[in-house]
Amino acid sequence: MSSEKVFRALNEQLNAELRNAYLYLAMASFFAEKGLSGFSHFFRVQAREELGHAMKIYDYILDRGGRVVLSDVPAPKQSWDSILSAVSDFVRSEEENTRRIWRLVDVAREEGDKATEVFLNWFVEEQVEEEKLAQGLLAKVKLVGDNPVALLALDRELAKREE
Ligand code: MG
Repeated sequence: MSSEKVFRALNEQLNAELRNAYLYLAMASFFAEKGLSGFSHFFRVQAREELGHAMKIYDYILDRGGRVVLSDVPAPKQSWDSILSAVSDFVRSEEENTRRIWRLVDVAREEGDKATEVFLNWFVEEQVEEEKLAQGLLAKVKLVGDNPVALLALDRELAKREE
């Protein structure tokens, strides 16, 4: 019952979630190289979450009798000038993702696709959490500034993020 237009938009979002997973894996490796294993762990968990989001869409497309179309996942940015710049990219990427989800809701609405609209509610709510998480981390990184002791304390806190 879903239209080709909806399936196309869902497949695009599936790809966007994979792109985000790729970006966060790059961030995890960037922080590991810096010796910040807590930050690295945080982004590794985040990458796995994005993969989970992609799979949620993947399963939904199949449940609706659509075809999953996997397209290229381009190489992400892999190095940053500073911790602040990497974490700012995290915020930007989640804000962009929110905009993409909202556009996807618009497509479902335009097509009168109630099921997809309801399915996407989970993602709308999830983005509220994702933006909060990213902005919270950015605020802490700004507070830490150039203080290595505070940075190591934050790193220890991030190491505790649950899988
Ligand atoms: Mg996501």
